[in-house]
Amino acid sequence: MGELIRIEDMCKIYNPGENEVRALDHISLTIGEKEFVAIIGQSGSGKSTLMNMLGCLDVPTSGTYLLHGQDVAEMLDDELSDIRNREIGFIFQGFNLIASLTAKENVELPLIYRGLPKKQRSELAIEALRKVGLEERMHHKPSEMSGGQQQRVAIARAIAQAPPIILADEPTGNLDSHSSVEIMEILKTLHDEGRTVIVITHDPGIAAKAGRIVHIMDGKIYKDEINEGKSESTIRAEVAEAQEHVTTKVKGGSTNNESGMDLHIKEDSDDGEE
Ligand code: ADP
Ligand code: MG
Repeated sequence: MGELIRIEDMCKIYNPGENEVRALDHISLTIGEKEFVAIIGQSGSGKSTLMNMLGCLDVPTSGTYLLHGQDVAEMLDDELSDIRNREIGFIFQGFNLIASLTAKENVELPLIYRGLPKKQRSELAIEALRKVGLEERMHHKPSEMSGGQQQRVAIARAIAQAPPIILADEPTGNLDSHSSVEIMEILKTLHDEGRTVIVITHDPGIAAKAGRIVHIMDGKIYKDEINEGKSESTIRAEVAEAQEHVTTKVKGGSTNNESGMDLHIKEDSDDGEE
C-alpha cells in the first residue's frame, strides 16, 4: 500500500493572540492508499479543521502536509484546485446541494466546472446516481427527497468524476439510523472499489465500520489503531476515555495550560464557531 497522506507536526491556531484556539495541536498522521479510516472525536475536538487540511481547503499555522509525496504548501492555486477537483470527493454533513437544481443537475455541476462536454457530463451523472440507487429520482429536486436521499445525491456528486479519495465530514450527522447505515454501506462499497475513504464522525457506530480508527481529542491524536471488528460500545468507551483524559488533565491543573484554555473556550462560548 503506497503512502497517500503524510501530515507532520501540524498545528492550526484560530485567532492567534489572547483568545487563540489551538484547533490542531501537533498532529502527525499518515494514511495509505486504499485505506478506510474513521477520525472520531467529540464536538470541538478539531475534526472539521483536520478535514479542511486534508482536503486542501485551508492552510495550517505550522507543520507540513504531503499528498502523494508532494508538499501542499508549495503548490500553486491552480494545482490545488485541480487536486480538489480530480483527487478528492467531498461529502459534508449538510449535503450542500443547490435547491433549485435537480439531483442530476447537482451531480453535473462540478463536471461543468471541469469543462466536460454535455453528453459526457450527463453519462457520468447518471452513472453516479445509479451507483447510489437514485437513478429514478434524478429529475427530482432536493426538497422532494428525504435526507438520506439528498446525502446519496451528494455522494453521487462527489464520485461522479471518480476521485481516488473520498473525504466525508459527519456524512450521517443529519440522518436517521436507517439512512446512516445506507450511507455507510455506500462508503464501504467505494472503499471496496479501491478508493481511499476518510470519514470524520463523532458516532462510534460509524467508526466501527472503518478499517482504522483515529481518535482526536482537543486537537491531538489520542489513539490510532487498526479496527479488527471493535464493537460500537467499545469505541464509545474509548471516546469517553479520551474525554476523561483531557478533563482530568484540566481539573488537575496540569502543566499543559493551553489544553485547559482550549477546553474552557469550548465550554463557555459558542461564538466563533462555524
Ligand atoms: P469539530 O469538527 O471536531 O467539532 P472543529 O474543527 O470545527 O471541531 O473546531 C475545533 C476548535 O476550533 C473548536 O474549539 C472551534 O470552536 C474552533 N474553531 C473552528 N473553526 C474556527 C474558526 N473559523 N475561528 C475560530 N475558531 C474556530
Ligand atoms: Mg465538525
